[in-house]
Amino acid sequence: MRTEQASISEKRDLNQEASELRDIIDSQDDIILIITRDYSIENVNKGGLTLLGRDKEDVIGEKCYQALHAEVEPCQYCPFTQTMKTKKTEAVERYDATFEKHFRIKSTPILNEHGDVMKCVLSMRDVTEKVNTEAKLKRMQQELNLDRRLVAIGQVAAGMTHEINNPLTGVIAFSQMLMQMDIPENMKEAVEVIYDGASRVVGIVDRLRTFARRDRPAKEYADLNDIIGNTLAMRAYEIRSNGIEVTTHLATDLPETMANVGQLQQVLLNIIINAEQAMETSFKQKKLTITTEQVADKIRASISDNGPGIPEEIIDRLFDPFFTTKDNNSGMGLGLNISYGIITEHGGEIRAQNEPDSGATFIIELPIVAETRERNPSNIADAEQEEPAEARILVVDDEPHICRALDRLLTEKGHQVETTSSPFKALEMLSETKYDLILLDLRMPDMNGIEFYDRIRAISPALQQKVVCVTGDVVSTQNEAFLHETGIPCVAKPFGVNELMRQVRHVLEGEKNGTQVTYSHS
Ligand code: ADP
Repeated sequence: MRTEQASISEKRDLNQEASELRDIIDSQDDIILIITRDYSIENVNKGGLTLLGRDKEDVIGEKCYQALHAEVEPCQYCPFTQTMKTKKTEAVERYDATFEKHFRIKSTPILNEHGDVMKCVLSMRDVTEKVNTEAKLKRMQQELNLDRRLVAIGQVAAGMTHEINNPLTGVIAFSQMLMQMDIPENMKEAVEVIYDGASRVVGIVDRLRTFARRDRPAKEYADLNDIIGNTLAMRAYEIRSNGIEVTTHLATDLPETMANVGQLQQVLLNIIINAEQAMETSFKQKKLTITTEQVADKIRASISDNGPGIPEEIIDRLFDPFFTTKDNNSGMGLGLNISYGIITEHGGEIRAQNEPDSGATFIIELPIVAETRERNPSNIADAEQEEPAEARILVVDDEPHICRALDRLLTEKGHQVETTSSPFKALEMLSETKYDLILLDLRMPDMNGIEFYDRIRAISPALQQKVVCVTGDVVSTQNEAFLHETGIPCVAKPFGVNELMRQVRHVLEGEKNGTQVTYSHS
């Protein structure tokens, strides 16, 4: 009787313990399943049922891969498969496309008395928030690093622009002058080659400056076609050396949009580099096609390659942080994620699709932002206008080449030109002689152009209306602010004859020009 009572009480204890254990397991946020060797679900906690949205009776006995992923065989990455081999606890962390969550999946073996795996406890912990926070932190770090690199490139570019543009100004100005002269045909050809070569260098330096400029407004009116052209030019060498044929269909009447040009260049660069890499091992003629068009109230750019395309099973994950199919050294899996962030921030959309029998296409759509600014008068070609009457011009530039080039150019146009590389000497000359125009370099070692401009006020305030700045350094924030405040016209080195003469004419004719910083070397 006593033993019977004891066994009833033990049974009650056991039942109570089992019920308490069930409560503990059900109270967990983790999804917990007991899986047998043939992947059948033997038991599942509340968390699992909530995830599946089903009743316990329906799930028990079903294969786990079928219940969780509607698959017909065990998932490749399943840690239980591994546990059956190692007889140890195995774990894996991965993104689950069915539930759109990141899970840490752990398989703990339940062994029989011989040490063989009978079943396992499979627990799945939702780590989406942790992964997203880590990804966000890494992305921020990546952006910070990129930002630092851009600042460094910007500083190098500013120095380089100045150093390269000074000698280049002489080459461009003199070759343009020669081209306008009556010289033998064979010499003309040589001069044209010099001019074309120098112009290409101007373009390269200019693009570097555009890409690296840190002081540019965050967003500005921009032409997507120009950004595409610049980006392609930046990859010109790689595109050529990889034998890629580029075709562009750029809409001529494409409206502008408000954009951060550097960021859009970054997006396009990433897509183009991905396309280059995708086509790398292709034996057929590699083709990159870029199209721009206006579709309803959007500007659309489509970038297509004829590489292998994007496997259907990954197309939905391309824009996820750290998603890459490249090995560790060539891909971080952040390019498209950052691109997605940039385009979304611009109020646009980016997506990828496969073309039938062809490679991948990336489509970017941006909103059209109506432009209200007035047309820049310096963009209107007026090279053929009549020259104003002979004027007395003082050139102040520490570069002797530039003084010589300006002297020749302006003398040819019938002006009386004096040059000096010393700003102090220039101040003396100004107090002794009356000049109609001062061409002033902004960056000089002894006294910069801004200080010089302040000093001439002491000689005569009217002189300040007669200045045209010539500079290879408008990248500097100080110079840009100065030009903006004073409204002085400015020609960026290396300038072309037409551009220079246009600005000279404006000042000699007393036209109020507003701040004109012109980069063209037309
Ligand atoms: P990463 O280049 O570092 O891998 P991305 O975010 O730029 O990172 O790209 C993510 C993935 O998208 C690539 O690893 C690749 O699998 C796929 N992908 C991107 N562009 C293409 C393309 N043009 N063709 C095929 N797959 C592509």
